[in-house]
Amino acid sequence: MTIQEITAVSKVFLLDMDGTIYFDETPIGDMKNTLQALRKAGKKLVYFTNNSSKTPDEYERKLKKIGFWEEGDLVYTSAMATAEYLREFYPDKRVYVVATDAVKESFQAYGVTVVEENPDICVLAYDTTLTFEKLRKINKYIVEGALYIATHPDDVCPSKDVFPPDVGSFIALLKVSSGKAPDVICGKPYTTMGECIQRKLGVKGNQITMVGDRLHTDIRFGVNNGFHTVLVLSGESTEETLKNSPDTPEAVLPSLNEITEYL
Ligand SMILES: [Mg+2]
Repeated sequence: MTIQEITAVSKVFLLDMDGTIYFDETPIGDMKNTLQALRKAGKKLVYFTNNSSKTPDEYERKLKKIGFWEEGDLVYTSAMATAEYLREFYPDKRVYVVATDAVKESFQAYGVTVVEENPDICVLAYDTTLTFEKLRKINKYIVEGALYIATHPDDVCPSKDVFPPDVGSFIALLKVSSGKAPDVICGKPYTTMGECIQRKLGVKGNQITMVGDRLHTDIRFGVNNGFHTVLVLSGESTEETLKNSPDTPEAVLPSLNEITEYL
């Protein structure tokens, strides 16, 4: 499909954040007006991130601060997808959650039974308050046979400084200590988060466009889920990496701002 056709058929735009709409808190170009143009064209905007260290409320506050938030927008994180997945498929199970306190509380708010001992399931989120005791416990529980779910697979987290370790690095550590890999990974590029957002919004895959700057997460995620895909070259990817990548987006734009020419 051409970019015009993609924008015409899409009701929902899933927007990756870092490298796609901003860097840390610096908007990319005139993003505020671009987002407004998409809303005016009747598109639902979903801020869609693998980062499971923050709650949707924390993201909403950040987006409000930089003028990106309007009534009707939605934040969707891999932690929310994981909580909804647990509620849908494992409603009565006891779950040990490695996450920040705020994210842990958000799991409880979803109705997940969060426990410290004897869990049926372990969830590994991006816990920026990780301790040895938490690692000891999750390692013990997964060795003893608990179902092991990771929120997302990213090895490092984009940052102004040296990129710090993300969940993919924690997965590698637990692979060495326990011999086990996650039974389920929810976030991009896997399909669980895609199925969750379709269920939540009641929209078909061919009415959704994934916009992002990473080929092996954002674009692969869109392709794996049957969504439309737009790669933006404002972040991690370049013409060069695109040429050498097995992941092929349907459309490529210098940044999301250029989409306004096709609405
Ligand atoms: Mg990104």
